[in-house]
Parts: sequence; C-alpha cells; structure tokens
Amino acid sequence: MKAALMQLADSLGFALCRIAPAGRPPHAAEFRRWLDEGCAGEMEWMARNADRRTDPDAVLPGVKSIVVLALNYWQGAEPNPAQGRVARYAWNLDYHDFIVPKLQQIEAFLEAHGGTQRGYADTGPVLERDFAALAGIGWQGKSTLLVSPKLGKWFFLAEVLTTLELEPDEPLPDRCGTCTRCIAACPTHAITAPHRLDARLCLAYQTIENKGPIPEELRPLLGGRVYGCDECAAACPWNRFAQVSHEAAFMARDAVKMSLREWLALDEEQFRTLFRGSPIKRIKRRGFLRNVCVALGNTGTAADLPALEIAANDPEPLIAEHACWALQQIRHRA
Ligand code: SF4
Ligand code: SF4
Repeated sequence: MKAALMQLADSLGFALCRIAPAGRPPHAAEFRRWLDEGCAGEMEWMARNADRRTDPDAVLPGVKSIVVLALNYWQGAEPNPAQGRVARYAWNLDYHDFIVPKLQQIEAFLEAHGGTQRGYADTGPVLERDFAALAGIGWQGKSTLLVSPKLGKWFFLAEVLTTLELEPDEPLPDRCGTCTRCIAACPTHAITAPHRLDARLCLAYQTIENKGPIPEELRPLLGGRVYGCDECAAACPWNRFAQVSHEAAFMARDAVKMSLREWLALDEEQFRTLFRGSPIKRIKRRGFLRNVCVALGNTGTAADLPALEIAANDPEPLIAEHACWALQQIRHRA
C-alpha cells in the first residue's frame, strides 16, 4: 500500500512523498517560546491555534501517520532581474489552489484503505517543517527553511494526516555543517541565530503579512522587493541540486515582469485581473502598491517622480504615505 501511495504521489507530480509518525512535533516547546517572545508579529492566528499546532491528535483524533509531500517549483533563471522582485513561489498560480486537488486524490486513496484524513498545504494548524524533517524530506536549515538534498530550497510542502498506521521513513542528518550563508545573506538580520527567525524583521512578513505601514527603518532594506524575499533560500549551496520544474503553473506570468511604474499605475480592477489566481492577490492593491512605492523609493530615479506624485494623492492612505516616503528618498538622492 505504501508503494502504491508513493506511485500515486509521483503521478500527481510530487517530487517527494515520505511518512512521519504523528507524535508531538519536536519543536513544540520552541514554537511556544517563539510565540511568547512576540516573534510572530501580527500573525495572531498562529497563537490562536497553538494547542492544535503542537498536537496533531487535536487536529485529527486518532491520527497515526503524516504523509508529507514536496512539490518542486524551481523555475531556473529569473525572467527580468532588473524589475521589482517577486518571490519565486508567487510568480504564477497560488500553490494552495494548485495542490489541494492533488491532496484530495491522496486522501481518497487513503480513505479507500480505511483511513480518515485531513490534508493541508501550508494552511493547517500543523508544524509542517517538523514533520517534513521527521519524514526525511530534508532537514531544517539554519534559516529555518527545510533543505532537501534533492530539491534544495525550492519546494512547497503539503501533508495529509491519516488514522492509518503507515511505516515511517527515516529522518535525514543535518548537513548544514559550518555553513552560515543564509544568515549572512539576510538583509535585515531576521535570522537572529541558527534556526531562529524573528518574523517581524523578515521582509517576507513585512511585504505580505503586515497589513499596515512598513516600519521606516526597514524600508531601505527592502531594495526592489515587492512581494516576499528569497535571499536566504537563494544563498543555500544545496540549491545546486535543484532541477527545473516541468510545471507550467509555476512559470512567471507576464504580470510579474512589469516595471515598478506600470504596477504603480494599476487601478483596483486592473490589479484584480492581472493577479487573478496568484498569491499576490492576497495583499490586495493597497498592500502591493505600498510595496511598489517602497521599491521605487529605493531604486527609482527622477523619471519616477511624476508617477509617485500621482500615487501620493491616492485615496488609499497607506499607498499615499509610502509614495510620499519614496518621493523624499528619490529627491534626497537627486
Ligand atoms: S526571507 Fe529575506 S528577510 Fe526573511 S529571513 Fe530570509 S533573507 Fe531574511
Ligand atoms: S545556507 Fe548553509 S546554513 Fe543555511 S540552510 Fe543552507 S546549508 Fe544550511
């Protein structure tokens, strides 16, 4: 049955499928400390279901095994590195929407063998990196991201909790060794120690999860990033083993290749049309244009001033305030 499950996962396009025993996740206590220290920032939903996150049995009573799946999304070279930068995972379709139908097929398979299941793609109350490490998908790198010796850092994780008792796989040894490249690459020093991330300093958090103003001291560190940050992931030497994904759904859509000024001119409807089905739609026009203003403030020239002056009068105060900041930065440089 396990062999048939692996075959099914392979046919659905998952690069890896391995099994973890469903016990208490090894970093449960550390996760609670991290929450207590406020490192989750405004991600209050993490604290709200902390009990469930640290106990798979509270998510699915009677759970015995966790099927962990990895989907490769490495696309090769960046399409246009001169433009505003979007994290690779968000270059096209929202992976949640993409993975869920695949998970449903895994769940149906397990159900046919008598199991009860819950499947999640980053959306569930599960410390998924812990179980992925237990299952031997990879090890938890010093950046806190999972590193796979086969896929590097460029893969999505998903998991199916099941009441079936499946033979667990072996974890992999930690192969970070003396490397500290991910820590050195972080522009904001958000990786405060090996395996420890302060989300409040992380540019992925600031550009996506933060719904309000970006703290002024962090704005210059955003560079040209407009959605997420890949620096610590890109620094990992294990990426040399990454293979280009055959999945067209992850290849960059034209909308992520536009210039910062073109993005700044988007109205609500244009924004929704361009980013339909993309993770970027989550932060809405107000969040995206806020980030675009900061990126222009960091990388723009006098030629960008007229577009920013229009944005400084945007009816959305968040955009207007960040446009004013960007105007000041460019004028200061000029
Ligand atoms: S995503 Fe960027 S800001 Fe966040 S920890 Fe990694 S390098 Fe630092
Ligand atoms: S960059 Fe180095 S330290 Fe960081 S996760 Fe990769 S191997 Fe580990």
